[in-house]
Amino acid sequence: MMTPRTARSARSALVLMLFAAFLAGRPSWPAGVDPKTAQRIDEEVEKNRAEIVKIRRFIHMNPELGNREFETARLIAAKLEPLGFEVRTGVAGTGVVAVLRGGQPGPAVAVRADMDALPIQETANVPFKSLNPGVMHACGHDVHSSVVLGTALVLNALKDKVRGTVTFLFQPAEEGAPEGEEGGADLMVREGALDTPPAGAVFGFHVWPETVGTVLFAPGIVTAASSTFVITVKGKSAHAARPHEGVDAVVVAAEIVTALQTVVSRASDPTDPAVLTIGTINGGARRNIIAERVVLEGTVRTLSETNRKKIPLLMESIVKNIAGMHDAGCQFEYKEALPSVFNNSELCAAMTPTLTKLLGKDKTLEWKPQMIAEDFSFLARKVPGFYFFLGVKNPAQASAAPLHSPNFNPDERAIPLGMRILSHLLLDALNGQSALAAGAPGF
Ligand SMILES: [Zn+2]
Ligand SMILES: [Zn+2]
Repeated sequence: MMTPRTARSARSALVLMLFAAFLAGRPSWPAGVDPKTAQRIDEEVEKNRAEIVKIRRFIHMNPELGNREFETARLIAAKLEPLGFEVRTGVAGTGVVAVLRGGQPGPAVAVRADMDALPIQETANVPFKSLNPGVMHACGHDVHSSVVLGTALVLNALKDKVRGTVTFLFQPAEEGAPEGEEGGADLMVREGALDTPPAGAVFGFHVWPETVGTVLFAPGIVTAASSTFVITVKGKSAHAARPHEGVDAVVVAAEIVTALQTVVSRASDPTDPAVLTIGTINGGARRNIIAERVVLEGTVRTLSETNRKKIPLLMESIVKNIAGMHDAGCQFEYKEALPSVFNNSELCAAMTPTLTKLLGKDKTLEWKPQMIAEDFSFLARKVPGFYFFLGVKNPAQASAAPLHSPNFNPDERAIPLGMRILSHLLLDALNGQSALAAGAPGF
């Protein structure tokens, strides 16, 4: 007999199989939604635009750090619950999962927005500046939440055209949970955010300082796998004037810092990008005492499996050998934090015509994998994922402040465009899979 759990996982497996079959057997993407539906999407985007921009500004003025997105989550749930969405709150801490059941039966897809802000003091000169000192939406997650919320409103108004189910995920702590806490996409997945109903694909996006009106995407690897490390060098304290009686942890640490630079520059394939950054170095007690202890902290970013496996081994060997050479002790802690975001090739190919049709070929730019990290990877590891970048640079400006800058100020014209893009992507994904399930010709 099937327990509810095995029944659920059998159902998930079936949905995934159907979606995989749809992706694999797809000779060409259907023409997209009919012109009337496309027009209705445009009308609904326009109808909701002013309110969503207002909500974005409200969230921007009231930014909340990871796992503390209480008011942001409340606002989103309060907006969707009265409209009949099946809303679950408190997922992975402050996360919100809102399910829209379409007017027609069909498969399920999910779309994710992150809600957290960063510990940065805003310097951008905008009338809706952050009211929370030292906290700012410098990564555009206010835009992500608003665009996904706006898309939920648009698709709710077009419910009769929705074949299946759309799960809207509002995720906490993308930038990392506070010390000692869990959180983010990994926890959302573990708490079943993609399971009820079982999603066949997951969509996500990030704002990017590229001209508004453009999107960037590519199949395969999108962002780097990221790891963190802590190196503790243990020396022996002595009088600064009698160094021969001690073991100087500062000198050992300095050698380690220099030698670690060779991991990428000398020991890795130059055509396979990797980054090794030491972000902090702390140690010593006083200027006239030989330092007993130095702690180095940093991050490693890789794109390939080879580097992901090889780099920590090389690092450990360098650290231990240098410490040993000087009779110092050392501790090497290495933790894999985030896997790469990976765009499912077939899903990406299926979505390309949707994007080129909406924006024009010249506005769909090729994404080159970056060494940034994104915890959307946990969602895209569970089911096929499609992740793209939405241009938010004001075209009148030569350049825009980058993500995580205190001056970051995305062009809000990207908000209605984002709603339009997501509405089409989600409807096309559901329609494409439904067509396969119904045995429609051409699939
Ligand atoms: Zn960020
Ligand atoms: Zn971000």
